[in-house]
Amino acid sequence: MPAIASLNAFASAKLAALEAQSLRRQLTESRRDEAMWITRNGKRLLSFSCNDYLNLTQHPEIIAASVAATQRWGVGSGGSRLVTGNHVLFDALETKLAALKGTQAATVFGSGYLANVGIIPALAGKSDLLLVDELAHACIWAGATLSGARVLRFAHNSLTHAAELLAAHRLEHQHALIITDHVFSMDGDLAPVAALQNLATQHDAWLMTDDAHGLGVVKSSSHDVPLQMGTLSKAIGAYGGYLCASRPVIDLIRNRARSFVYSTGLPPGTIGAAIASLDLIAREPDYAARPLALARRFTSALGLPEAQSPIVPLILGPAAAALAASQKLADAGFLVAAIRPPTVAPGTSRLRFTFTAQHPVAEVDRLTALIRTQIRPLITLDAATRT
Ligand SMILES: *Cc1c(COP(=O)(O)O)cnc(C)c1O
Repeated sequence: MPAIASLNAFASAKLAALEAQSLRRQLTESRRDEAMWITRNGKRLLSFSCNDYLNLTQHPEIIAASVAATQRWGVGSGGSRLVTGNHVLFDALETKLAALKGTQAATVFGSGYLANVGIIPALAGKSDLLLVDELAHACIWAGATLSGARVLRFAHNSLTHAAELLAAHRLEHQHALIITDHVFSMDGDLAPVAALQNLATQHDAWLMTDDAHGLGVVKSSSHDVPLQMGTLSKAIGAYGGYLCASRPVIDLIRNRARSFVYSTGLPPGTIGAAIASLDLIAREPDYAARPLALARRFTSALGLPEAQSPIVPLILGPAAAALAASQKLADAGFLVAAIRPPTVAPGTSRLRFTFTAQHPVAEVDRLTALIRTQIRPLITLDAATRT
């Protein structure tokens, strides 16, 4: 068989296996041209699936800031920030981020993913220990694997398990790093950050939190966490990742994080937008509080555990059930993505609702009624008990 034929056969077989498990994914062109409305296949849907919690991707003031930055400084940064790509807007953004998180300094990466695959290997290596919450984001696991350190997962949000692992293994290693999402991306719950910071202090370990889904929409008391990363790609409405930390840590990261050193600086328009978003959030706290308030309206109406963030999961169990539920909601004009393995554990496929500042209350209530009458009856007993 010629090489190209065996390559195509390989890809086709892998795809067929995914298809058979309802796990094959497709790109669908999504036209987003006003706040949370999306047009797909000619149909206009109200999205409860965007991470654009404050609808800033379409906000006139943020667009204007991005256009102005592009006109003044150009479309791209032209190089790694360590060579010629460090345009004038980075410093303004990093100063604001550090002030917001109460740290001495901050540095911006190309994305949140690039931040985690750069930061973790720059801080931990072969002789070190990483403790990672089992539900941490994929890019934390990618960074952990790249580091070459010993990686142990602790049960989700379990201080007891994390403490046991530290007691058993901390002394075998030079440094230890505890890593967790602050807001868990597929469950919407929060890590016990203050308690984790105490535990870290007791064991001379460093705590790193990933606030990708919290920045701007979930009040964060950082509890002196020394390593606070996050993204500009969600509530901020732009793109990019960041780390807030002490001056020496940030200087080390700029020297050693390979995804910082060997990747091009973000474009001026992106950074200009992020600066304008942080200003808007600081100026309009009531607006920034809306996504969580809407999520709580939804969870309270359905008798679900009170939302702790703008993310609310509804677990259906089998991947096919989640897909069917998502299709039912699409028929009624709502875009709610089905989340399946490997993003979530097998048997916990779900609808993941994200609430945004400009969702009309009447539509949230119409969605709630649909869940009650059309979707809840689809949930099998197995799924309800998460077995
Ligand atoms: C989305 C996400 C990231 C990745 O951020 P990007 O800027 O989209 O690359 C990292 N961590 C968590 C917890 C996330 O949800």
